[in-house]
Amino acid sequence: MAPPKAKPGVLAITPYAGSEVGHGGTDRVVVSSNESAFGASWRAMEAYSAASEDVRRYPEIDARSLRQALARHHGLEQDRIICGCGSDQIIDLLTLCFAGPGDETLYTEHGFTMYPIATLGVGATPIAVPETNLTTDVDAILARVTERTRIVFLANPNNPTGTYVPESELRRLHAGLPEDVILLLDGAYAEYVMEEDYVAGEALVREFSNVVMTRTFSKIYALASLRVGWAYAPPEIIDVLDRVRPPFNVSAPAISAAIAALEDREHTERSRRHNAETLPWFIGEVEALGLHVNPSVANFVIVRFSDDPDRNADAAYRFLFARSIVTRRVAGYGLPEWVRMSIGTREEMEEVLTALRAFVGAT
Ligand SMILES: *Cc1c(COP(=O)(O)O)cnc(C)c1O
Repeated sequence: MAPPKAKPGVLAITPYAGSEVGHGGTDRVVVSSNESAFGASWRAMEAYSAASEDVRRYPEIDARSLRQALARHHGLEQDRIICGCGSDQIIDLLTLCFAGPGDETLYTEHGFTMYPIATLGVGATPIAVPETNLTTDVDAILARVTERTRIVFLANPNNPTGTYVPESELRRLHAGLPEDVILLLDGAYAEYVMEEDYVAGEALVREFSNVVMTRTFSKIYALASLRVGWAYAPPEIIDVLDRVRPPFNVSAPAISAAIAALEDREHTERSRRHNAETLPWFIGEVEALGLHVNPSVANFVIVRFSDDPDRNADAAYRFLFARSIVTRRVAGYGLPEWVRMSIGTREEMEEVLTALRAFVGAT
């Protein structure tokens, strides 16, 4: 008798590589997971504590009150919103429902690794589409669409490159896709983007029956540990997803904290402004050290190092780690020469700069 064997595709998955430090208080500078510089709103934390008093009760089966709050906040229809245990869960459910053996999904060369993981998990084939200048190339995606294509995944802005495609390009991409192919717009970093030609995708979802937008409370709202994400989708797709969504998939303390975080607009605006100021400053300072930084509209950047073994990305990562600064290697994203760093507080970024200065040997 042979031992149990996983379904085809599952063993082809490279497990998701997270940060080298997990959850928990440290005295380190952690700029490895694109988490918010300021942390969560105190109102969200208060709501979380208050909800913790009744954890013996099941939460709402479908996160109704959070969907209502999201609908009000974003001017959307509540019945076209679905909440997930992180937006990762929604990516999983969508892939489970719309792709299977023999099907293909497309994602960009340096795109978020959850897309191939979700695809392989359902026995479908993920196709990495080349990017141009570390940016999504709409023509390259359209050239790879076949009758087997079921989903096109697009993080906009993309993690880890930090680049984005403007609304006109999104519309051109959509216009080139067959009606039965889903375009998933992952707006995990949407709140940080200041560019006027950027859209997260609400209007496209409303206009077309094959566009889905996902969002998260893990980034600007700083609730990564609570695992709350959501999607805005056409009613037919919501209906499908709701059939496989586990009941009670968002906990009551998470729902309460997320609603309070949404309501604290001032805190969100402060985080947004902080990033808008700190990002260009940090990029300028790193470039002044002679390092190349890829342009970014999100709350992180990737920095390129040389291929000299003593000065390369691995060496930089280890040098910073030894100085209690945790960054992220992105070789798994096809970017072995680069290191990703999130935008933390000004003080944290000063520490990163001091360490980088020591690394490159500048004075
Ligand atoms: C961080 C991130 C998410 C968020 O995932 P959650 O499961 O909501 O925490 C989604 N997409 C991308 C591209 C991300 O970088």
